[in-house]
Amino acid sequence: LNQSSRLIKTRLAPTPSGYLHVGNAYNFLLIWLHARLNNGRIRLRIDDIDAPRVRAPFLKDIFDTLEWLGIDWDEGPFTMVEQQMYSQHQRIERYMEVLNTLINQDLLFACICSRSLLRRFGPNGTYKGTCKQQQIAWSHHPASWRCDTDSFAEIKLLDHTGSESLYSLPSDMAYAILKRKDGLPAYQLCSLVDDIDFGINYIVRGSDLLSSSIFQMGLSNQMGPNLFKEIHFFHHPLILDASGKKLSKSKGSAPLWQLRQQRGGREMLIASFSRWLQLPEKVTSTKELLALASACSY
Ligand SMILES: [Zn+2]
Repeated sequence: LNQSSRLIKTRLAPTPSGYLHVGNAYNFLLIWLHARLNNGRIRLRIDDIDAPRVRAPFLKDIFDTLEWLGIDWDEGPFTMVEQQMYSQHQRIERYMEVLNTLINQDLLFACICSRSLLRRFGPNGTYKGTCKQQQIAWSHHPASWRCDTDSFAEIKLLDHTGSESLYSLPSDMAYAILKRKDGLPAYQLCSLVDDIDFGINYIVRGSDLLSSSIFQMGLSNQMGPNLFKEIHFFHHPLILDASGKKLSKSKGSAPLWQLRQQRGGREMLIASFSRWLQLPEKVTSTKELLALASACSY
């Protein structure tokens, strides 16, 4: 694993809209290792903006999982009660402030397309920007607010070693929604604003979120002095089940709460994580992971 001379600040950013699975555990362990090997700081940020899908047992599952894995963090909520204080819903005003700035910068437009219309426009979920020319009023309800991505140029991302790659905006991020039809700010906006406001400079996420990273960087480039541009990204390969399916989409993979109830479940999980990292020895505790991971080339 890479050792950096920069002062790293990263975040664990689970979403309490389902029970965590093995893929989430690998992601948490990887974040924790990157931070701890670099004397970095970790913020726990629970992405609970999607209120209709958030459930208390899922929130509890996050805290139980982190404790069970032996992962510690430095800031953010340490208990479920504290999470109320740190909830993204406490920051709605801030997100709205950013949305208003984007309106003033002519970077948003309102979209009133229905779900079925969207499906007809783009079978692959790609929206063509149909509502942009219509200048639909901001007061229109219900309407989603989309980002006008037409002006996005090539987007530069730094990887964990600090080397640059250039991307154009992936088609699934064209005109991304920043405010949802139900009035809530969308994930793409909240995640970016939180990372900027909390001084995150190192993001470890699955490669399925590469297009989010590219979009968020593209958006921050438009927003003015880019507070996001020094951020380094580590996009790790996805953890697949035996049939090659993504774990979050897979029916066969056991949720972590089941593994927590098994005798030796944690040791088994950490051993499989260490195999995934291609560590030379079989490791069964987070302490041993930390001792060995610096030698790992992954
Ligand atoms: Zn539309």
